[in-house]
Amino acid sequence: MTDRTILSSIARPGRYIGHEYNAAGKAWQSAKIRFALIFPDLYEIGMSHQGLQILYHLLNGREEFLADRCYCPDIDLEKILRQQKTVLSSLESARPLTDFDVLGITLPYELCYTNILTVLDLAAIPLYSRDRDGSFPLLLGGGACSLNPEPVADFFDAILLGDGEEAIIDIAELLAAHQKDKPAKKDLLNLLAEIDGVYIPAHFEPEYGSNGKLFAMHRISGRKDHISRRILRDLNQIDHLKQPLVPNAKIVHDRMGIEVARGCTRGCRFCQAGITYRPVRERSPEKILELAESGLAASGFEELALLSLSTGDYSCLEQTLPQLMDSFAERFISVAMPSMRVGTLTPKIMEQVKRVRKTGFTLAPEAGSERLRRVINKGITEDDLIATCEEAFALGWRVIKFYFMIGLPTETEQDIEAIIKLVRKAMAVQGGNKAGKGRKQITVSIGTFVPKPHTPFQWERQLSVEESTQRIRRLQNGLPGKGTNFRYHSPKISYLEGVFSRGDRRLAKLMEHAWQAGARLDGWDEHFDLTRWQEAAVLCDLHLDDFLQERALDETLPWQHLQTGVDLEFLKGQLSKAKEEIYTPDCRYHACQKCGLCDFETLMPIVYNRGNKTMDMTPLSSATSESAGKVTSKAAGSAEPGHFKYLVHYTRTGKICFLGHLEILQIIFRTLRRASIVTNFSQGFNPSPKISFGPALPVGTESLAEFFIMDLPTPLGDLGAIIEKINDKLIPGLQITGIELHSGKIPQKIGIAYSLTLPTTITDAERKRAEEFIAGDSFIIGKTRKGKTTEIDIRPLITKLSIGNADNSETVQMEMISASAEPGIKPMEALNQILGLDHERSLRTRIVKKSWQSLDAKKPTA
Ligand code: SF4
Repeated sequence: MTDRTILSSIARPGRYIGHEYNAAGKAWQSAKIRFALIFPDLYEIGMSHQGLQILYHLLNGREEFLADRCYCPDIDLEKILRQQKTVLSSLESARPLTDFDVLGITLPYELCYTNILTVLDLAAIPLYSRDRDGSFPLLLGGGACSLNPEPVADFFDAILLGDGEEAIIDIAELLAAHQKDKPAKKDLLNLLAEIDGVYIPAHFEPEYGSNGKLFAMHRISGRKDHISRRILRDLNQIDHLKQPLVPNAKIVHDRMGIEVARGCTRGCRFCQAGITYRPVRERSPEKILELAESGLAASGFEELALLSLSTGDYSCLEQTLPQLMDSFAERFISVAMPSMRVGTLTPKIMEQVKRVRKTGFTLAPEAGSERLRRVINKGITEDDLIATCEEAFALGWRVIKFYFMIGLPTETEQDIEAIIKLVRKAMAVQGGNKAGKGRKQITVSIGTFVPKPHTPFQWERQLSVEESTQRIRRLQNGLPGKGTNFRYHSPKISYLEGVFSRGDRRLAKLMEHAWQAGARLDGWDEHFDLTRWQEAAVLCDLHLDDFLQERALDETLPWQHLQTGVDLEFLKGQLSKAKEEIYTPDCRYHACQKCGLCDFETLMPIVYNRGNKTMDMTPLSSATSESAGKVTSKAAGSAEPGHFKYLVHYTRTGKICFLGHLEILQIIFRTLRRASIVTNFSQGFNPSPKISFGPALPVGTESLAEFFIMDLPTPLGDLGAIIEKINDKLIPGLQITGIELHSGKIPQKIGIAYSLTLPTTITDAERKRAEEFIAGDSFIIGKTRKGKTTEIDIRPLITKLSIGNADNSETVQMEMISASAEPGIKPMEALNQILGLDHERSLRTRIVKKSWQSLDAKKPTA
């Protein structure tokens, strides 16, 4: 996205400008096969997704392939693109999506399905596969929902089931091999169908019975009656993210992630991932340490997340975590484990985690009663849970999050009451030492159980919206208001998730109708409207409630031609064990439970359980500061010991000016880390680098004169070399222009010179208004903030205003005063008021901050 007017008109424009550090930015002509990897949700969600980044990294790692990215635009941008009849383009090369060979669309969750339609439509690509010939890019789906992609199957040409790492390269190679002979689309799909894990929806056709229910899925083309998911045998064999993308705009999971293991065999009976990512394949501790070191050095992130379905189950965690912390704690890099299971969160692990920042913990008992936890095979007791809370509070945590589901099979009124009792009991827990005293809070999050395909509960019913709402109310009323923070997932959203989760191809039309009626970003509470879907269902003659009902064990399921490798009989067995409350142990640590997946020759669980054996690993290196230089006597005299303060001048030009102040701060922090510049840190709960910034620059303003002051423990050496080094690690658009020793005091009053270039010549009337402003003593304007309007006199704030002459008839030079803690005005806002510009002209004005000077009164010298 390059259009200044568009970027000036939308919320959070930083989402659309690209330029992230480590973005591949490959030359278009250099590649044979080009992929646009599309995440069908907003940038802040899509950039947090590991899967897309892994494929991006793998494809770009091959010379002949190119991968660019695209995220779903927010509603404001969609509206503008439609008004201006502009097609949606990719993030890096800014190419229309129709220029690519493949659109690889992630299917991460059901509520993002309508975003796929938004992206296709904005790219001027027909929605249905049958309406696209070979001149359009191949539409390839994949991701968590790919094992029941039937609701979206009609839109896709091919869907990759299971792990994508090897398969994506197979697909790219096949397309490259056939680039010259250009097979017809039908022939190309037949070729793709031969690749393991590739499902061609057009090769299958559903048959519905007279009752409207799915009767059978018929293969009408291709050679395979069943498509099996692709399974990566060993995580160690695949190149992981050595150079993670570093977002410029704020995203949901803004950190570096390392997948420590894939798959979980704890056997929770509601959990789809527990089946569709089997078996457990751990990454070796050595590899994790190596990836952490290289990835953090290459990205500058301040947090490392150890990712897996249940990180606490990683068999070498108690050895690996201290190694990571030993290396990173002194660099103030924290380690987070977002998915911890009660029982695996040992005091030893908690002690390690809290060494830098106390990253949050979510404990997921899922059900309140021991009985229901037995039904779902959760395998944790109330005592485990209370003991974990006790430890966490004792170690100084104040907030713990609990996650529960309502509507699990066999749930009764007593199970709901048990949630309330459990939370009350956890609230009553006191930590065992001094640190445990003080105010504690438990955040209780509630979600409605959605039966998922390929799980033992795939035949179960889901609660109606009314039942779900009623149980949530019961919990809300029963939980103590003080000390708990109650949150719940919208029952209406869960309802639609349930429809799509076990839905079939009839839902494509429903989706199209609801989307045409305005359904957008359905996963976001503020945009979701169930009524649109209910009205669309009437048009399609569908009863949405039918999709939530219990299914018979012998019923044809829409996904039964798609195989996870786990036997159907194993799932049925687990369902009856659930009813009998029989526990199924984890095959990682106990005997194989015979789910039918592993052949124990090429595929088996990979667990690096080394017990108490000390690992022989080379200690990770500590960051070497660039501050090796000598301090001149003058410089040494101006610095406190251990605090060397430097004023750093930098410029901020081009599209990067559309980032906000906080986003720029984060970029600077991470750049300094990448350049091995070690700063001092603040004390307290969340230590942050001791860097002070000048006044915030308004979004959309370029600057040739920005600054920050950094406080370092040791002096810098050759400043020219340091500038070069930092610039090498900066993103395009930011550049360091000078570094000098400084007192460290941020000027409180600053004079700033701006140059404002309007898109058209300044009119005589505007010139006259400017002259009147200059001649006047005061110029009162009203400023509205948070609904409250206050009057300020902007005349004293503007010390110079010169309107362009005949040679320069669109430019205004303006000098303003900015003083901290006093009301001020943005340069564009001031110019709008002075000249009376219209909105369009104002949006298209280019503003550049040219220089600044401190106006602080100098202390008289003795
Ligand atoms: S086959 Fe056995 S070892 Fe493999 S995932 Fe299934 S239960 Fe576990």
